[in-house]
Amino acid sequence: MTSRPAYRRVLLKASGEALMGEQGFGIDVSVADRIAADVAEARAMGVEVGIVIGGGNIFRGVAVASAGGDRVTGDHMGMLATVINSLALRTSLNKIGVEAVVLSAIAMPELCESFSQRQATAYMDQGKVVIFAGGTGNPFFTTDSAAALRAAEIGADALFKGTQVDGVYTADPKRDPTARRYERITHDEVIRGGLAIMDTAAIALARENNIPIIVFSIHEKGGFGAILRGEGRGTVVSDAS
Ligand code: UDP
Repeated sequence: MTSRPAYRRVLLKASGEALMGEQGFGIDVSVADRIAADVAEARAMGVEVGIVIGGGNIFRGVAVASAGGDRVTGDHMGMLATVINSLALRTSLNKIGVEAVVLSAIAMPELCESFSQRQATAYMDQGKVVIFAGGTGNPFFTTDSAAALRAAEIGADALFKGTQVDGVYTADPKRDPTARRYERITHDEVIRGGLAIMDTAAIALARENNIPIIVFSIHEKGGFGAILRGEGRGTVVSDAS
């Protein structure tokens, strides 16, 4: 058995809800610490890691829109929520000695650096974990799309989508006991089948840039590292045979 990682540079996407733990809102620091430990394990293997974290544990733009408010302002608030989560994750990484920087799509120089593709790749070349905050910087997008975009910009070998379950299923495994997990599936099959693992724009962007998506459980301690070693449980979304 070899522990040589199958990927050199990856983008990890975790939803804001993953940070919430058992709470109904906000950040459970012990969960942020656990995700940071999983990222540290990947770094110890020599894998370069970029991270996009969502904001759904704090705020989602659609919540404002559905209550009759202004969608764009709501999305701005959602993007700010991703910055809060990114700062929390950076703190957890720094605490265990992992060098990490937050680069935001929305300038807020007192809090963190602004995103540029050149700076991001320079930091990753130096072995720093780069956390991409602020989503794409645009309303009407999601952090899934931001993850696919940043993955393409940094030349990631794969996009790791940490979800509530350990892969892509034929149906929701929490509701349908007959649901089966796919080992492999193509981007097109995910889109055509309406298998809601990421939004369609994100999957299409990954497909156009030949970036495989690895869907795995964000809740399993060590799960990220196991997949990087080619051992873990998950579904590979890829057009390559
Ligand atoms: N958002 C946005 N543009 C982006 C990324 C995010 O406007 O490029 C806003 C949007 O309101 C979204 C919120 O930020 O609802 C939180 O992001 P997301 O829903 O993707 O978080 P997750 O579901 O991953 O926690």
